[in-house]
Amino acid sequence: MDDWQELEQKLYMRVIKRLPVTLVQGQGARVWDIDGREYLDFVGGWGVDSLGHCHPVVVKALTEQARNLIQASNQFYTIPQIQLAQLLVDNSCLDRVFFCNSGAEANEGAIKLARRYGKLHLKGAYEIITTYGSFHGRTLATVAATGQDKFQQPYIPLPDGFVNVDYDNVEAIKAATTNRTCAVMVEPIQGEGGVNVPSDNYLKEIRAWCDDKGILLILDEIQTGIGRVGSLFAYQQYGVEPDIMTLAKGLGSGVPIGAFLAKERASVFAPGEHGSTFGGNPLVCAASVATLKFIIDNDIPRNVRQLGQYFKDGLEKLKAKFGFITEVRGRGLLLALAFTNNIAEEMVLACLDENLLVNQVKPNALRFMPPLIINEGDVDEVLGILETVLSRRPQ
Ligand SMILES: *Cc1c(COP(=O)(O)O)cnc(C)c1O
Repeated sequence: MDDWQELEQKLYMRVIKRLPVTLVQGQGARVWDIDGREYLDFVGGWGVDSLGHCHPVVVKALTEQARNLIQASNQFYTIPQIQLAQLLVDNSCLDRVFFCNSGAEANEGAIKLARRYGKLHLKGAYEIITTYGSFHGRTLATVAATGQDKFQQPYIPLPDGFVNVDYDNVEAIKAATTNRTCAVMVEPIQGEGGVNVPSDNYLKEIRAWCDDKGILLILDEIQTGIGRVGSLFAYQQYGVEPDIMTLAKGLGSGVPIGAFLAKERASVFAPGEHGSTFGGNPLVCAASVATLKFIIDNDIPRNVRQLGQYFKDGLEKLKAKFGFITEVRGRGLLLALAFTNNIAEEMVLACLDENLLVNQVKPNALRFMPPLIINEGDVDEVLGILETVLSRRPQ
């Protein structure tokens, strides 16, 4: 343990389990620790560094904006915020946007918006149906929305108005719908829940049910959005359009920003009903404009589809070779490798030894969420390291 890590143990709340690495620098898909040791980063700031670490267009946007205007408050118009809103509206099916500072806040805003819609258009309906295994954030309302016992238990009583049902089961949503229901909120692919991909028709069937009942469909694209699964937004691959969509993680390639977007008819906030001091400030919006422009202009989702397939094929080969690999799942560059036993933590540490950063998404599964700008060489390197560490296990 280095001096910084010892200091952290004394000072920081004991709520995060960290790996024994102190990172000081990053470039592209590589990071360096305090001793100068280089790692290939397939955690990518937790699915955040969409353009990799310190991409030149992001650094340029940040430094230029930092010289001009960092924070102005939302009492005034600021240009990067409006530019970012325009990019998002022009490139999605949604009409209006609100910026905040994290994923949880984006979902919190989406929940409030759905409740306003329920009050105004659905006779006061306020319940939101969400799914088991989901992850929607750490605020009290988003914890109530998150259908995982381990996140809910420590904080009971939770805010009322959330009904958790099975994922990938439209009948469960139908059975849970009452005249109190104002919305259904799901992730197109469950990220934190283990990279769970639902059946192809799941979102379409939810969309049809919501239309039938006149309730809203909220898609939490905080992890799947901004190119991660091979299209700018995941909903584009499933043939549906949400009424409300939330974004965060990859939107700013590292800067803290979240957003929720809505169709015009669902955009029912009145002045003063929601707000944020930092939300959409010029600094983070400038970085996000640069990120999004780069992703769109260079068709990064195409790279994600190609590299995602290449990576997935490689993982499938490993599965064929090692009997204790049970599944390769995910889409684009949001992939997971599952094992028969709970060996993910051991695998994370073994990879770390080989200078590779990966994430344990479940006790029995690794998750890969690298920068979207990786190349075949990076994937080959990861596959090689995985093969090495997997070969060391008793077959
Ligand atoms: C990460 C994540 C969140 C929470 O985002 P924070 O920025 O940590 O608040 C919400 N929903 C999904 C799908 C996520 O992956």
